[in-house]
Amino acid sequence: MVGFGYDVHQLREGERLRLGGIEIPSPKGVIAHSDGDVLLHALCDALLGAVGLGDLGEHFPDTDPVYRGISSHVLVERVVALLRERGYRIVNVDATIVLQEPKIAPYRGAMRQRIAELCDIPLERVSVKATTPEHLGFVGRQEGIVAFCVCEVQPLL
Ligand code: MG
Repeated sequence: MVGFGYDVHQLREGERLRLGGIEIPSPKGVIAHSDGDVLLHALCDALLGAVGLGDLGEHFPDTDPVYRGISSHVLVERVVALLRERGYRIVNVDATIVLQEPKIAPYRGAMRQRIAELCDIPLERVSVKATTPEHLGFVGRQEGIVAFCVCEVQPLL
């Protein structure tokens, strides 16, 4: 089964930028109740989507004080546990981040490693790609950051 996830957050000067569980030095970071990790949020939605379990906002509403400011890696851990309880394992994850600046290529390896650990799958089954929007649109103006993620999930036999 295949799942797809998408997330977008606004950027602002002086905020922190966390992607794939990794802190990335950047003059601009994400405005969010949580750590605003668009990559991990898109991953959660892809995993939930693959098994028809709704979306992140449904499971962990940011209107609930319990989930305000919750670390995204905790969300991934909970979603992965949910899939396991339902009898599924993750086959692979493929994600793309769209961001004008900074260059995130130096952090891709660390992000893949972190996602592989969280999903409990080998490194080669995790792909993290990045592209710039060529200065076009809200991402090009550095007003926001976007992440897309697909995954494959299989029943545990
Ligand atoms: Mg989000």
